Amino acid sequence: MADSDLDEARGARTQSLFRDVNERVEEINHAFGEVIPLGDWICECANSECADRIMLTHKEYEAIRAHPRRFAVAASPEHIFEEIEDVIGRHERYWVVEKRGLAGELATKVNPRRVRSDGDRESAASL
Ligand SMILES: [Zn+2]
Repeated sequence: MADSDLDEARGARTQSLFRDVNERVEEINHAFGEVIPLGDWICECANSECADRIMLTHKEYEAIRAHPRRFAVAASPEHIFEEIEDVIGRHERYWVVEKRGLAGELATKVNPRRVRSDGDRESAASL
């Protein structure tokens, strides 16, 4: 494995870890979703030191989570790692990144959500 592959693997693992945390947060936010329109999430960037809070609605979070290669990060360039990902959406409260190459494959492999037999598979194949 080349060094860059290792870095990619590390980045994907870190992000996947925070994604798992956010999956739990999601359960909590879901429970309060009726009362609180915006949920409190943790930045899913590849920096393992980062635990910035980001605000997304339940719907916004779900839209990102529908794609295994996509992650929600804080709205600033420090949370973007251009060697392994592309920014595909910039919102006022958060940005959305999509993993490329190996990092994307790993992120898909450890996706906490089951790949559904319909829609999701289609978007993965087109990458
Ligand atoms: Zn971050």
